[in-house]
Amino acid sequence: MSIASTPPTTPEASRAATRRTAPLAHAREHLRAVPPLPVRSLSASALPAVVSGGLPVPTLDGPTDYANFDHAASTPALVSVKAAVDTALRTYSSVHRGKGYASAVTSGWYEQARAEVAAFVGAREGDEVVFTRNSTDSFTLLSRSLPRDTSVFVFESEHHAALLPWKARQTVRIPVPGSAADAVVLLREALRTRQGRNRLVVLTGASNVTGEVWPIRELAAVARRAGARVVLDAAQYAPHRRIDLGELGVDYVVLSGHKLYAPFGAGVLAGRADWLDAAAPYLPGGGATKAVTEHGVQWHTGSARHEGGSPNVIGAIALAAACHALREHGEAVEAHEQLLGKALLDGLRDIDGVQTYSLFGDGHERVAVATFTVDGVDSSLVSAVLSAEHGIGVRDGKFCAHLCVDTLLDDPYAEGPDTAVRASIGLATTAAHVQRLLAAVADLAAHGPRHEYVHTGEGWVPVDDTRDLAPARPW
Ligand code: PMP
Repeated sequence: MSIASTPPTTPEASRAATRRTAPLAHAREHLRAVPPLPVRSLSASALPAVVSGGLPVPTLDGPTDYANFDHAASTPALVSVKAAVDTALRTYSSVHRGKGYASAVTSGWYEQARAEVAAFVGAREGDEVVFTRNSTDSFTLLSRSLPRDTSVFVFESEHHAALLPWKARQTVRIPVPGSAADAVVLLREALRTRQGRNRLVVLTGASNVTGEVWPIRELAAVARRAGARVVLDAAQYAPHRRIDLGELGVDYVVLSGHKLYAPFGAGVLAGRADWLDAAAPYLPGGGATKAVTEHGVQWHTGSARHEGGSPNVIGAIALAAACHALREHGEAVEAHEQLLGKALLDGLRDIDGVQTYSLFGDGHERVAVATFTVDGVDSSLVSAVLSAEHGIGVRDGKFCAHLCVDTLLDDPYAEGPDTAVRASIGLATTAAHVQRLLAAVADLAAHGPRHEYVHTGEGWVPVDDTRDLAPARPW
């Protein structure tokens, strides 16, 4: 590596800026080394379409279509979601606040959206569906709705949104399990350490780091037998698997519209009404109140209690449209993702110099996510190269699950990477994209980047970046 000439702006950037990759004079031929995948995408007509299909993106070697492997962060909108939003915008008006026709239509659709989401999560009689901003917001709402003496049991491998909203003194942290069976044992042991009338177990449906599906039913049964309630973090599970609160045996579910092909700012907390109805309103104000006098306030119960202010009705309608489409096409979506996910993981495992990671062992069920590192190549350089040279979008880092990633990457015998790369598949990913990603990673692992990169305060960037990364703003 040679020394970069870019002037550093901060001490951190200064240290980082001394890193620069050597340019590699190897040709595109290397990319042909990976044989074609023995899988094809399902017929596109079997799957709900996304608005970003065939998105052209610039690379250092010319334009290509965007290979989206970043669905676990945020998904593109479905075409049907955008259509629902366009329709709803024509009559957009106030919710539960007007008598005009547009207001009546909008208010009706808002409540129908709630019913659609309730059906999507298999809500039971009496369950609430509260619209929030996202999963982080939903967890925070639940954390503020716990009875005062509640103990919370949470695995350290959880996403920070599920790990952090609870008060430290009320929380029992459970170590990252080494297998699905281990998770069950660890939860059982943790529940023995703190008794009490009100206990809540936080579970994830699918890990946002490895995509591994947690043994939800088994863990929920352990919690139930101990008299504890369960909240399921379905941010990564809902886009890929059917949810049924009763069948899974959980009390609450949390999810985000932007991970479910409905990126319009709505999320959900659904589940048992009693704690929510007894809690202080999350957003005190109009809509949450029944009556206000000089002597005090009478608050609503039900979802209105926590949805103060004018709600994000467009977000709720978008989310409902996505739930509708995923219910209708769930099997095809799962088949598409399983096919490509297996090809991706198998392909990565076959590449020399690439390590893949799992919590529960290689054969464990996953949603279509693969987390990997390339020996000797900084993970943020891997993602920069995939984008700049191949038009591939992945994420690198610790994925807001630092304890989980630290555990996965911890190697007592060697100095290894401290961050990883995550490739996550969804409706915008095709078999050709998987093929492109595998070829690109194989090429990078064998020969390094094709262009020269420098580490700046912005992370790794190509030294001669010819791409237009700032197209005209959309408004
Ligand atoms: N839980 C999991 C498992 C997640 O992957 C995420 C988002 N990465 C969240 C919670 C938080 O979701 P949001 O950013 O929509 O609040």
